[in-house]
Amino acid sequence: AIILSALKEPAGEKRVALSPAVVAKFVKGGFEVLLEKDSGAAAYFPDHLYTEAGATIVNRQTALAKANLIAVVDRPDEDTLAQLKKGQVLIGLLKALVEPAVIQDLAKRQVTALSLELLPRTVSRAQNMDALSSQASIAGYKAALVGANAFTRYLPMMITAAGTAKPAKVLVLGTGVAGLQAIGTAKRLGAIVSGYDVRPASRNEVESLGANFLTSSVNAVGEGGYARQLSAEEQQQQQDELAGFIAKNDIIITTAQVPGRKPPLLVTQKSVEAAPAGTIFVDLAASDLGGNVYSSKPSETITTANNAQIIGAQDLPSQLATSASEMYARNMQAVINTIVNEAEIVIDVKDDVLSELVATYQGEIVSGRLRQALK
Ligand code: NAD
Repeated sequence: AIILSALKEPAGEKRVALSPAVVAKFVKGGFEVLLEKDSGAAAYFPDHLYTEAGATIVNRQTALAKANLIAVVDRPDEDTLAQLKKGQVLIGLLKALVEPAVIQDLAKRQVTALSLELLPRTVSRAQNMDALSSQASIAGYKAALVGANAFTRYLPMMITAAGTAKPAKVLVLGTGVAGLQAIGTAKRLGAIVSGYDVRPASRNEVESLGANFLTSSVNAVGEGGYARQLSAEEQQQQQDELAGFIAKNDIIITTAQVPGRKPPLLVTQKSVEAAPAGTIFVDLAASDLGGNVYSSKPSETITTANNAQIIGAQDLPSQLATSASEMYARNMQAVINTIVNEAEIVIDVKDDVLSELVATYQGEIVSGRLRQALK
């Protein structure tokens, strides 16, 4: 039988790559499943749920040594990667485009790696494997709640005996998967919502949620449905037009990303400093490289001199760990099903999904995007 392991994630990560429900499916399909002790604890999947589903709880060393397939959410630490052996298959959000050298090292050691960030978004057969979408959707939903929670006024219009409250205005910058979910959630909370993107195709999606689409004067459609990076002049033009939109809103949720690049700065120092007391910025793109909002820091909340707040929110899927893990595990199941055939691992690097999703196989870099990133 094929041996599938899930590891306990790095500190701070509450998600887990396999849920008990998905483990039960694998066991039924003839897999032997090993779970490192306490892997699911932070997502409230205690070990006994996994043993009831047919898995065996083991220590990390055994989970690593025995596995043919290793399922993770985040890329494991260097020590763990160093223990992987030739022919083992590692699957997870491995940051292939951001830190390609780490993946290259796996290739040298003939470890196979599937990095879920590389999944082609436009192939419909890949939809059930799309962990970027399932996790972005969770992040967008939670971003609206985090913004609402920090805001010191009502979101909906309230007509009460004690007076009337006006609805809050929410602006979402970047209306991909996360942005659209943020829009839908803020609408359900009763806010007046606008969306903005450099891909004109997102207008219909924003408007179908009942939000207002703010047209960008910059059109930046890139490859594979993604946005491309803006030139310096375009970025300036965008920052100028956005300053006016930002000033008219109470809660600004930013989600703009360009694959493998530093996130674009959408909210400048000037806009941050001009924001009145009570304004909330929720920056989903906040990272160590910088985010969409000037001065945002991952997992930190900063209060400006004017009492606006900048919430650096890159760990929202981990905060919704149970739902996020359930969905991630289903994506993982779909990926594994495409590489396992009759109890054998078969990786067809010519397949339209695998040719992109597979980062390394038999010592070679397979993904074209990853090869580009390594140049
Ligand atoms: P993403 O996380 O890469 O970026 C988020 C959003 O930020 C995108 O909408 C992008 O256009 C926008 N953005 C980038 N730079 C910007 C800038 N300077 N100013 C304003 N906005 C900016 O995107 P994503 O959510 O992963 O979605 C990427 C694409 O994949 C979209 O076209 C989406 O519809 C598509 N998609 C398709 C499927 C499918 O068909 N199965 C599934 C998921 C996503």
